[in-house]
Amino acid sequence: MEEVDEIKTRVVGVDIRETKTTYAVVNIRGEILAQDHFRTSDYPEISSYVNALSEKILTIIEENGGYGSVRSVGISAPSANYLTGCIENAANMPWKGVIPLAAMLRDQLGLAVAVANDAHITALGEKAYGSAHGMKDFIVVSISHGGLGSCIFTNGLPHLGVNGFAGEVGHTCVEVEGRLCGCGRRGCLETYVSDKGLVKTAEEEIANSNEPTLLSELEDLSIATIASCCDKGDRVAIDTFRRVGTMLGVGLANYASVINPEAIILTGDMMIAGKWLLKPMRTAFDEHVFHNIRGRVRILVSILKEGERDVLGASALAWDVKEYSLFK
Ligand SMILES: [Zn+2]
Repeated sequence: MEEVDEIKTRVVGVDIRETKTTYAVVNIRGEILAQDHFRTSDYPEISSYVNALSEKILTIIEENGGYGSVRSVGISAPSANYLTGCIENAANMPWKGVIPLAAMLRDQLGLAVAVANDAHITALGEKAYGSAHGMKDFIVVSISHGGLGSCIFTNGLPHLGVNGFAGEVGHTCVEVEGRLCGCGRRGCLETYVSDKGLVKTAEEEIANSNEPTLLSELEDLSIATIASCCDKGDRVAIDTFRRVGTMLGVGLANYASVINPEAIILTGDMMIAGKWLLKPMRTAFDEHVFHNIRGRVRILVSILKEGERDVLGASALAWDVKEYSLFK
């Protein structure tokens, strides 16, 4: 018998998206030792997807320290519920209904598996390795292709809500009778602050402006192309981000006034707009936040690399789950 038990120094982080699944072996210091990916859409059946994923995980861990060095697996997936271990009615994924992904994969791998939604995972990654390191009370808001997601941490723990759906600030109303949202209601923050919301605002600004604008010459209106027009001094492009940034500032001020966080950490594709988004956001935030909180909430942008954030976040989830090994 050994005098002391060995500690397992590696975990696997998996980021499942509509098009691509990325998986990585991450060590105890948050270093990605190996990473690979495959097309999610190649597996329209969940059972064949789980078979493929578990085979690929077993291969990558065999090549990087072996099965005995891996403690657990953390998974980021859209509409994944940490409390149930299931993907629950994900709108854009090939698998419909409620999928008990954590249990299915645990049975195949013989390792502890936890799942969480992308916003929860992003927040875990920021706490473990990023801008929220050392913080107990913070909010992470991610603005990217899918919309606006968020996760709240209080007293060092994620606040998930009784059903696991807390933090849906993207679906709080900022404009009564406003734009129609994918959730079926009107005026949600996400309909203004998201890539689609930005494009819609740009189209409105182009239609309402008498000034010539570079935006009307663009074939593809997107965060990157509109931001590059701002850099060239285009008034209509700058006004587009000013409106979107103002909406974001109002949404975040409401959020901060309820939660009283130490910091709000912003992530996602929208951050490439930089000052064009962040300056009007900050002005609106300071104007609308509760006066006793004003000046006391740090607003930060994620320092994690875009291609690594999600697998790192998933690996942070893996460290949080109770160790379990079927095959020693
Ligand atoms: Zn909505």
